Parts: sequence; structure tokens; C-alpha cells
Amino acid sequence: MRIPFIGGNWKMNLSLEEAIKFVEEIKPKLPAANVVETAIAASPLFLESMIEHNSDSPLQITAENCFYKNCGAYTGEVSPQALSEMGVGYVIVGHSERRRYFNETNDIINKKVHAVLDNKMVPIICCDETMGRLDNGDHFSWVVSQVTAAVQGVSEDDAAKIIIAYEPSWAIGTGHSASTAEAEEGCYLIRQTLADIYSDEIADQIRILYGGSVTEKNIAALMKEPDIDGVLAGKASLSPNEFIKLANFQSLK
Ligand code: PEP
Repeated sequence: MRIPFIGGNWKMNLSLEEAIKFVEEIKPKLPAANVVETAIAASPLFLESMIEHNSDSPLQITAENCFYKNCGAYTGEVSPQALSEMGVGYVIVGHSERRRYFNETNDIINKKVHAVLDNKMVPIICCDETMGRLDNGDHFSWVVSQVTAAVQGVSEDDAAKIIIAYEPSWAIGTGHSASTAEAEEGCYLIRQTLADIYSDEIADQIRILYGGSVTEKNIAALMKEPDIDGVLAGKASLSPNEFIKLANFQSLK
């Protein structure tokens, strides 16, 4: 059984004080981790303090990015080994903003996926989709090629642990979410791609999220779809109250 996964991605938002307050505030209102898994991805500058204030909470403190080497002459980069030592369990890899603004290629993303797994953390691999959906019928070939490249060389055992997020870039931060049918179509295609690469059995174990303007209003419908195992929310994760509602989507209509 795939446990639902509700993740937030703060990007470069909130202050350290707000981050700590957030973690403390949501702690008593989150579902148990064996019912719904919850995660917040934050700036690497906040992670250690968030972890300190997160004791006895099911929340997974997550990194938004890391480098693909553990150490060396890479000024300004974030070591996956250091994240793991700090107690980080999940790392977002290949967010569309990393691909777009920081020129991350499929090859770099694949190296990061390996680095995260080698350090015993779980990559949340984001697959972008360009405006192609609106312009032509070829939008899904982007998603398939990104998934295929990201998991290249990943063993079956490791593949079963990874999380993939289908995040059409036209839906990110625009307030224009994909419809439930569009989101399910993308997630289904990713599962089929994983089944082709590995097997139906492995693909059935991998959690696939939808991301793009998720709110308390659309999450319940999205979560009813068979191939959507969770969400990755940006804007809606900045408010503790809204994140609590997302985490408790099972009680929303
Ligand atoms: C994101 O950045 O991954 C995202 C989905 O953002 P938003 O929910 O704000 O569209």
C-alpha cells in the first residue's frame, strides 16, 4: 500500500523565526506518519533549527536541493552527506525552477538522485512539463524523458523508495492547477514509464505526486485519483493553517 505523501516546498520564503514557529505550530495537528506522510522542504539555512524543534513530530524536514558530490572544491554548494548527517530524510531534486534558472540538466539531476540515495535519503524527483501542453500534443514526451533520465542506473530496491512529482510548469505558482483528469493522466503516464523501466510490481510501490497550484479546495478531488499518491504544494504550504488542511485532506470535502 502506498502511504499518501503531502509535501510543502517553501522555496526561498519565510524567515528562520517563522520556520521554527511553523514547525512547532503544526506538530500536534499532523496525521500519524503511517496514515499520511508529511514533509516540508526549506532553505538549507533553516534545516538544522527546524530539526531541533521538530522532535516528536511526524513531519519530515526536507531539503529543496543538494549537490551531487559529498565534498570538495564546490564553493557554495550543499553537500548531500551533510544533509544526511543533519537528519534530513528527503531531498527535492530537479524542481522546474532549478532546471530553468540554474540550468540543471537531466544528467545533473540523475547524479543528484544517486547522491541522495547513496546518502540514505529519499529523492523527490520533480518532472516538469513545458507550455507544450498548451501549444502541441507532445507535452508528455518531456515527462517520459525526464523520468527515464532521472532514474538511470537506479537499482530496483532504490527505485521502490523514490518519490516522483509530476509538476507541469504552467500550473506552478500560477493559481491555474491542472484538472484532476490532467493530473491523473500525467501521474498514470509516469507509472507506466516506471513499469516499462522496472516492472509493474516496482511501479506500484513508487509514490507519484501532483504539484501545481494545489490548495485546500482541489486537494480532496486530486487525492481520489488512482495514480496520485500525494501532492507537492508551494504557495499553500507557506501558511501553517493551510498546510494542516492539506495534511488532513481526508477530512476535507
Ligand atoms: C512548486 O513549487 O513545486 C509548486 C507546486 O508551487 P505552487 O503550489 O505554488 O504552484
